[in-house]
Amino acid sequence: KKIIIAIDGFSSTGKSTIAKLVAKKYNYIYVDTGAMYRAVTLFAMNNNFVSKTHLDEKGLILNLKHISLTFKFNEDLGFAEMFLNAENVEKEIRTLAVSQLVSKVAAISEVRKKLVAEQQLMGKNSGIVMDGRDIGTVVFPDAELKLFMTASADKRATRRYKELIDRGDKVDFKDILFNVEERDRIDSTRKDSPLMKAKDAIEFDNSDMGINEQFDRICSIVDR
Ligand code: C5P
Repeated sequence: KKIIIAIDGFSSTGKSTIAKLVAKKYNYIYVDTGAMYRAVTLFAMNNNFVSKTHLDEKGLILNLKHISLTFKFNEDLGFAEMFLNAENVEKEIRTLAVSQLVSKVAAISEVRKKLVAEQQLMGKNSGIVMDGRDIGTVVFPDAELKLFMTASADKRATRRYKELIDRGDKVDFKDILFNVEERDRIDSTRKDSPLMKAKDAIEFDNSDMGINEQFDRICSIVDR
């Protein structure tokens, strides 16, 4: 039987890495909901609804209907890339500039309402691994398997820093560390669907756990 696997947790805990591996093994669809919040943020940045110094909530809400988000599977990459109004934004949404504004945008209820509805539609034909912050609590409270990932801030920032450096971005480690902690703070304290562990989620601290060990442990849970 195909199930819904919900993976939530703090930023840069390796949720997507694990989710992709699990999806591949079980032939499930992987949905990166963070990419959706990032794409809305990119739209908001490009249309001057958000910057470091301002947030035009009303303006963005009025324009949500002009945002179309789609995932297209890329055979070479082995995962689906994010398209914003038919444009591939997979690379652009991963920049530090987007990371610095996304939590502000994700705190807007109307934004969440739109994205949660779209995410619930994707889960209709089960066999899905979805990662984010509110999957086990709000999007799929009845998911058969819920994981909640944590790791020390330093480990998480180190991971994210390496990712950005590897793709050629010029970033400072201290900015990444600050961003990781700042996003967790905003995500955990927002009014609508704050980041928290679902009661029935299995907590996974992977500060000192390699990918293979995590993957094996999760597969053994899925298989039982
Ligand atoms: O997963 P990722 O780090 O790409 O998510 C970026 C941001 O999007 C998070 O810091 C959070 O503000 C927001 N987000 C959310 N709910 C989700 C997924 C992401 O609020 N389900």
